[in-house]
Amino acid sequence: MNPAPALSAAAPGSPARTGNIELTVDREHVATLTFDRQNSTANVFDVATLKELDAHLATLEHRGDLKGVVLVSAKPKIFVAGADLNAFSGATVAQLGDIVDLGHRVFRRLEALKIPSVAAINGVCLGGGCELALACDWRVGSTDKSTKIGLPETQLGILPAWGGSVRLPRLIGLPQALGIILTGKQLVAQQAQKIGMIDDVAHPEYLVAAARQQLAKGKRPTPSPSGLMNSALLRPLVVRKARADVLAKTRGHYPAPLKAIDAAVGALGQPLETGLAIEKAAFLSLVQTPECHSLMSIFHLRERAKKLKAGDADGAARSVKRVAVIGAGVMGAGIAQWTSSRGYPTILKDVAPEALAKGLKSAEKIYQDAVKKKKLTQAEATAALDRITPVATDVPLAGIDLVIEAAVEKLDLKQKVFAQLEQRVGPQTILATNTSALSIDAIAGGLADPTRVVGIHFFNPVHRMQLVEIVRGPRTSSAALDTALTFVKAIGKLPVLVKDSPGFLVNRILLPYMVESVRLFNEGVDVTRLDRLMLDFGMPMGPLRLTDEVGLDVAQHVAVDLQNRLPKPVPINDTLVQMVEKGWLGKKTGTGFYVFPKEKGAKESPNDQLAFLQTNGKGRTQDDATLRDRMVLVMVNEAARVLEEGVVSAPEDVDFGMIFGTGWAPFRGGPLRYADTRGVADVVAQLQKLQTDVAPYFEPCAKLRHMAQSQARFYPSR
Ligand code: NAD
Repeated sequence: MNPAPALSAAAPGSPARTGNIELTVDREHVATLTFDRQNSTANVFDVATLKELDAHLATLEHRGDLKGVVLVSAKPKIFVAGADLNAFSGATVAQLGDIVDLGHRVFRRLEALKIPSVAAINGVCLGGGCELALACDWRVGSTDKSTKIGLPETQLGILPAWGGSVRLPRLIGLPQALGIILTGKQLVAQQAQKIGMIDDVAHPEYLVAAARQQLAKGKRPTPSPSGLMNSALLRPLVVRKARADVLAKTRGHYPAPLKAIDAAVGALGQPLETGLAIEKAAFLSLVQTPECHSLMSIFHLRERAKKLKAGDADGAARSVKRVAVIGAGVMGAGIAQWTSSRGYPTILKDVAPEALAKGLKSAEKIYQDAVKKKKLTQAEATAALDRITPVATDVPLAGIDLVIEAAVEKLDLKQKVFAQLEQRVGPQTILATNTSALSIDAIAGGLADPTRVVGIHFFNPVHRMQLVEIVRGPRTSSAALDTALTFVKAIGKLPVLVKDSPGFLVNRILLPYMVESVRLFNEGVDVTRLDRLMLDFGMPMGPLRLTDEVGLDVAQHVAVDLQNRLPKPVPINDTLVQMVEKGWLGKKTGTGFYVFPKEKGAKESPNDQLAFLQTNGKGRTQDDATLRDRMVLVMVNEAARVLEEGVVSAPEDVDFGMIFGTGWAPFRGGPLRYADTRGVADVVAQLQKLQTDVAPYFEPCAKLRHMAQSQARFYPSR
């Protein structure tokens, strides 16, 4: 049943508006479907919108005078962002099956129109939006930076299920299609055109005109030119390689990409209906997996962060138009690159001219990489880099709204920098520090107005890491807090609010894990075994390889700081000190737990001169499960303590911070969700066993013990 809007409503010049999609027909007899979701900045597909599209298609089917239909969006930066995951998140499996069927039916109807159809894509065209475009005969993408085309479903533990898994391989060939579906990568229009996913690229102003030109080509001929790439002969090779790549990357933890390969391959060479049925069955089996539940929870954590408010400080933000960054090292240069890329004129100050030159070079490299990937034009990259003003001398900062200090991690130095800043900035300027672990309150200590100081803690590398910790000191004003939060959201990062406490959130939990891995190494366990165990657990990098990456000197410094300031720290030994004394600082010096060859692209290998550090033979008899528990549960215990002490306000904050700040095994949903899945009582029992067998510091914290006693969970059960 398709309730078709009155035919007369779509006569030339008179729009048919039923809700979120407007149908118009012009004097040249070209129909336009304009997606413009009411009361929203985004276009998404929910059941009502799909039905609305269905009704418009019924109207088009009844018109004998049309030359074609153009699909466009009225939103400035979004074509169609995908399915409305919030609307679908409470649905049962049967209801989800119905939603898949509805999407299949509507998109097939679009595909089966007798007139040609073209998607004029400006802005985000992902998931269901991309599947809508794939059901059109032709696709034209705009050169606007906001245009992103892709199928990110496997990143959510599902697969494209409104025809994307079936149509994309037919359009561009199986190897290319798997490259898109399995990685979830988002392409700019030029990239999408290169692989045949879209047919033309146009400046946003000429997009619709370019789209209309496609209509002259009529319906798309079948079979598509990619036939050879889908030949049955090549297929087993393609599948074997895709499976091997997925397994190497995911270590088998993520069922969605493997199922997506099966569905895409199973649907090839079959009638469309059969292909869609295969796609649906794969989707419905995936939505029931715990991995899908965890990955969906991450999606919701991200949405939650985007909407984060400053609580009692909400609404106190000052406007930020100009930024200054103090220190042009790894972090300062990274921050200045990011703020400049987001349109903020940024002063970058360092005492060392050579540091400034190096910092600018690193910013330039990031911009050039973006040009190579066609994310920016050369002119845009040059203009963005020009927004950074490097200075090595003291310049007036009265017109600066926000200063972000990223000088070296020494309290006395930072105090001095802030005292000087206070003399130079205007009375309204907010002063932020990027400190990893020092007390915000101590940094603000000697200032006439300590209330203007707040922590804005970016992660390394700044252009890749989405998380930013916003640290509120005991004297931080509402204006400083809300300015920091509003600014961080404005530059497209994901904030978490944390209390001014040792290591804040992420380093507080991560450091005990690194320290424990060093202890296990010291007990005689192989570097590669320890790292493999944690890679198998789902971490993006082993803990000792991570220590090399962070720098052994930096890790030791933060570990000592936490040891001195926390009531129950994981004790450190002198392994790192001995390595630092030898000049082995990790990747930056070429030697740490691994040796890093100088040749480009060469892989690191374990350092074979470490035996003298393995002085404590305790670990030799430990099985994999115990070793893993020692490293994982030390984090779970600290994560529970962080919550117990009110460093953050909810379990979601902890899991969000660890996933977005460290890449913590996403399919497990973060350390506290992991504790729930494993059972808090089991976590406590194992920690108590380790406390007896290994060392007292494994004692479970009071929160975990109370939760185990009362059979409580961190999250409500599903
Ligand atoms: P870095 O050593 O690479 O850079 C520090 C820079 O500060 C140097 O270029 C130095 O010349 C400059 N500097 C020193 N005194 C100065 C002054 N008075 N005025 C202006 N510049 C001065 O250090 P980094 O790794 O970029 O770290 C900077 C800050 O960011 C530290 O507080 C650190 O804890 C924090 N942080 C570091 C990381 C990381 O992974 N490196 C991550 C998050 C936060």
